[in-house]
Amino acid sequence: MESRKVGILGGGQLGRMVQEAASRLNISLTILDEPVDAPAKQVNAFQTHIEGSFKDPVKIRELAASVDVITVEIEHVDTEVLKELEASGKAIHPTPATISLIQDKYLQKQHLSKHNIPLADSLDCPDQAAIERAGQEFGYPFMLKAKTLAYDGRGNYVVRSEEDLQDARSKLAPGVPLYAERWAKFDRELAVMVVRSVTGEVRSYPVVETVHKNSICHLVFAPAQVGRGLSGTSDESFSTSIQERARKVAENAISSFTGAGIFGVEMFLMKDGQILLNEIAPRPHNSGHYTIEASHTSQFENHLRAILGLPLGSTEMKVQAAGMLNILGAGEKTYEACKLAYSAPGATTHLYGKKECKAGRKMGHITVVGDSMQEVHDRLLPMVMAMDPKDE
Ligand code: ATP
Ligand code: MG
Ligand code: MG
Repeated sequence: MESRKVGILGGGQLGRMVQEAASRLNISLTILDEPVDAPAKQVNAFQTHIEGSFKDPVKIRELAASVDVITVEIEHVDTEVLKELEASGKAIHPTPATISLIQDKYLQKQHLSKHNIPLADSLDCPDQAAIERAGQEFGYPFMLKAKTLAYDGRGNYVVRSEEDLQDARSKLAPGVPLYAERWAKFDRELAVMVVRSVTGEVRSYPVVETVHKNSICHLVFAPAQVGRGLSGTSDESFSTSIQERARKVAENAISSFTGAGIFGVEMFLMKDGQILLNEIAPRPHNSGHYTIEASHTSQFENHLRAILGLPLGSTEMKVQAAGMLNILGAGEKTYEACKLAYSAPGATTHLYGKKECKAGRKMGHITVVGDSMQEVHDRLLPMVMAMDPKDE
């Protein structure tokens, strides 16, 4: 039905789940990534993929020559060559301009600030004097962040007091540009997936709550239970107002960028109810994995629909509640939760086919659906405990 070919930079777990959606719709996907058996390539090994780096201009041009539309599953790509290809008429989504704005977190913040999106205050830190100025201006703790190549909190350092200032620079990768952010005393972390079609149509998914452990996404609950008890009682109007505001912030933020695709928008819900945007991912996002089982259209399928200009699918949930647990590398304990998931009602296991299991690496995830958030919690708790008994 769809004759246009899609090429994707990156073949990790996000690419793998895009491939799963593409396979179902019979959309041809060519993957550019280094390993011949990258997670995404494994699930469509008969397709001719490209072996090489998604940062290598030669390989990106080779991919461009064999497909109609280019997209990404990672933002840390070479945007200069993508800009060249776009200028020569190749369809690239999201646009290279959007990817390069987002891949530098500080440029991203400046852009969002210009568009009146609420953010934690930030300060450029090109030298030691600026890091010290951040301490004076923001107080302690404050967050020192790598502008580029950050993921899973690996580019962040918490500066807890004046004593930390001297060594702060050396805690982050040498040479990487830095900026500082005021500490956000958040009550919870929220996220919203937003999809925008080449037609300009924007749709957001429900607000979810994300729970991080050591700065890595650990759990996701959909929809977010802000302002209400697990049984759905208590302050409904407070809850509705937060959900509506968070969706609006996310939609406004994404509308300020060019190009199509799915975007993950991470937010802080402050104790006073204020919402601050943390960061945006110009691609499918961990906080949207639950959409495969719990929504009418998954984030991965809507991404493909968006970049090809096909009608967008409904972003509403088709179950009452869902929870997602990341399977992070933890030696022998890594797959304990998966063993329980086989016999847990409403649970679906996704394993990514990664060859090496390093500590903290995302190896898979489990999604649990239920008729209420209480039911989801009850089903998920034994799995969470199997990973780490302290997490009750
Ligand atoms: P990701 O894997 O989501 O791309 P990342 O490496 O880009 O992560 P951030 O999203 O910037 O990192 O931060 C990781 C986590 O650190 C956040 O989810 C939040 O828990 C915490 N954090 C980040 N910025 C702040 C801040 N200004 N104040 C307080 N906590 C913060
Ligand atoms: Mg990030
Ligand atoms: Mg983040």
